[in-house]
Amino acid sequence: MRKTQLFVLMAAIGSAWLLSSCATTSPTSAAAETARITVLYDAFGKNAAMTKDWGYAALVEINGKRILFDTGDDPAILAKNVKAKGVDLTKLDFVVLSHRHSDHVSGFSYLLSVNPKVKIYAPKEGFGIFGSDLPSKFYRKDEALPAEMRYYGGTPPEIMKFGTVFPGANIQLIDKTTELVPGITLIALVSDAPGTKELKELSLAINTADGIVLVVACSHPGIESIVAEAAKINPHIHFVAGGFHLVVAQDPAIEKVATTLHDTYKVDYIAPGHCTGEPTFAALQRTFGDHYLYAGLGTTLDLGANPRAASDRRTTGVLDEGDLRAYRTLLAQSDDLSDGGPEFVHLAQVN
Ligand SMILES: [Zn+2]
Ligand SMILES: [Zn+2]
Repeated sequence: MRKTQLFVLMAAIGSAWLLSSCATTSPTSAAAETARITVLYDAFGKNAAMTKDWGYAALVEINGKRILFDTGDDPAILAKNVKAKGVDLTKLDFVVLSHRHSDHVSGFSYLLSVNPKVKIYAPKEGFGIFGSDLPSKFYRKDEALPAEMRYYGGTPPEIMKFGTVFPGANIQLIDKTTELVPGITLIALVSDAPGTKELKELSLAINTADGIVLVVACSHPGIESIVAEAAKINPHIHFVAGGFHLVVAQDPAIEKVATTLHDTYKVDYIAPGHCTGEPTFAALQRTFGDHYLYAGLGTTLDLGANPRAASDRRTTGVLDEGDLRAYRTLLAQSDDLSDGGPEFVHLAQVN
């Protein structure tokens, strides 16, 4: 073999080795880049091993993190659903408690029983259930009063601390929109809607190579406001999952939301659940077509450039008959209806 032939052969072997080593490393890195959302708590779904109930919880695995987003309405049901999906809640990077409504936080005791030290992010509200604090200068003083008539005998602590209904939990309060780790942001907005005025809610926005993946709980501050806030991070909104709180909204309001999400914010994919509402499921499916992903209890939403719903048995139809019956029964008993109060529901029906 001549010297040049030997060189060509060596070069060919070398590049083949390089190619094969690239090929063996890329699936490994792809596995590390799991991007999916698993719905662990909702009132509609197809998984017979899980219990449907009003509330929301989802495991979000994305950007190398495992995040539990809300805990549903009942610890025993959360425990059952988590086991049915084989989810390990001892391995979490952190937990988000989106807002104080019981259908999102009541499963919390089960989470703490299996993972008592896990980091939890919750909204900072004045005198909220997650605990709070205020500088003592907030209240007016009257120095002419005798000490026994004055708060703290006239010498209050600089910061007044208020308790949480979850003592011992590793809760960090979030006051304003905060990037927790590069690319993962908690959006903090306040509701202005009747019945939930001043309620603070956290939504989870993950900036991915495909655009923003946004997970919302109840959208009490308004789904359009939350999406607008997410668009400040990256105007390309790739995926929105969760509850849009349009259970009692009338058709024109529903159509406006569907159009705004589709035409103004150009959301690529939508996977609504929880308090989005039946007519809104239908409207969003009409608007988004095959970019509407069914996201019932037990569904795993595989993200990436072309997301898909892993438990989707059908390509058409939003909810089947069984789903609808369960969803309506649970909705009738829900906390979310009382968000706006019975009067609000009544008004929504008569107007
Ligand atoms: Zn809710
Ligand atoms: Zn709520």
